[in-house]
Amino acid sequence: MFVYADNAATTAMSKAAAGTMLPAMQELYGNPSSLHQKGREANMALIGARETVARCLNASPKEIYFTGCGTEADNWAILEGARMGAEAGKKHIISDAIEHHAVLHTLAKLEKQGFDVTYLPVHENGLVRLEELAAAIRPDTCLVTVMFCNNEIGTLQPVREIGALCREKGILFHTDAVQAVGHVPVDVEADNIDMLSLSGHKFHAPKGVGALYCKKSIKLKNFIEGGAQERGRRGGTEAIPSILAMAAALEESCAHLQENMEKVTAMRDRLIAGLSQIPYSRCNGDPDRKAPGIVSFCFEGIEGESLLLRLDLAGICASSGSACTSGSLDPSHVLLALGMPHEVAHGSLRLSLCEYNTMEEVDYILEQVPEVVRTLRQMSPVWMHMLEHMDDPYQ
Ligand SMILES: *Cc1c(COP(=O)(O)O)cnc(C)c1O
Repeated sequence: MFVYADNAATTAMSKAAAGTMLPAMQELYGNPSSLHQKGREANMALIGARETVARCLNASPKEIYFTGCGTEADNWAILEGARMGAEAGKKHIISDAIEHHAVLHTLAKLEKQGFDVTYLPVHENGLVRLEELAAAIRPDTCLVTVMFCNNEIGTLQPVREIGALCREKGILFHTDAVQAVGHVPVDVEADNIDMLSLSGHKFHAPKGVGALYCKKSIKLKNFIEGGAQERGRRGGTEAIPSILAMAAALEESCAHLQENMEKVTAMRDRLIAGLSQIPYSRCNGDPDRKAPGIVSFCFEGIEGESLLLRLDLAGICASSGSACTSGSLDPSHVLLALGMPHEVAHGSLRLSLCEYNTMEEVDYILEQVPEVVRTLRQMSPVWMHMLEHMDDPYQ
């Protein structure tokens, strides 16, 4: 059996996206800035795509800027939030310890430029606490950036409440919603969001296209100097096929949001219940506030990398944490921020599901993982050492 359970790393393109993209590549080759009919045709399609993306977020088309990826949208939002702050003499930013590297590395760059960044702790359940956010706010705080949904452990932050607090204090609020858009309801108005990043390939659109939502009242400056594209703020001829495919994928995801959430949540819960049976395992994140599709576990006494290799041999595509950290031997910064010891964080497994997965696949995962964990433990010196202090759960 083959099971793709790494949807938080990237998703397969949907039929709607691919079916939009191919003809767009073949027919809609005009440059949207050209005045002739091929240009007009492409421009009309671009306008339509912008309207679709805006509608799915409850935004206005003027508030949507297409970007090359989610990372770019994160960079743009944060650097702009910082620039606006600095112009007003405010150089303090609040974020948290479990953001994606697109956010953390941008903040690190700002710190080198003299900004002060407070990283809120997320506690054992992976959630930011509102009272701690409120306490961290200073007169010179210009920006709060807290992700909607964490890509490794799936926790859903209290975005609406964070946004409300920022509104009340007159502080700009950005959220990296790359794992949320297309998966859970996102409404920039109701959720009090000023700036939001999204990425197509996390909801069945192609890679290499994303968007930044920026509230009309915010005076966003240029990110890429060039032509008049994206209202002059991001030069570069628009990637029409990718943008149209992203709009098609998002429209489909939003149209089926409730049923997809129910389906994926049911699979997730069965997976969690099954994996929890494994001795010395723990499910990471918050039991209530979590994404429908992201399951994160730690198994004591084993290495996550060996687990992944064995699961791959069994046809299961999973991940140890974030795709961006695989290849490095450091345990995930997210799991460490939950207060987990290094050796436990090393034995992590992330399975991320989408509506294309099936219960049969979940059952197959539940057949394979406990056996692989058991086998690896029998070969693990760490586990042998643990057995000196506890009863062998496999006896
Ligand atoms: C994938 C991801 C990103 C980066 O998006 P790209 O389009 O791959 O650049 C940013 N933030 C989160 C939470 C992600 O999961």
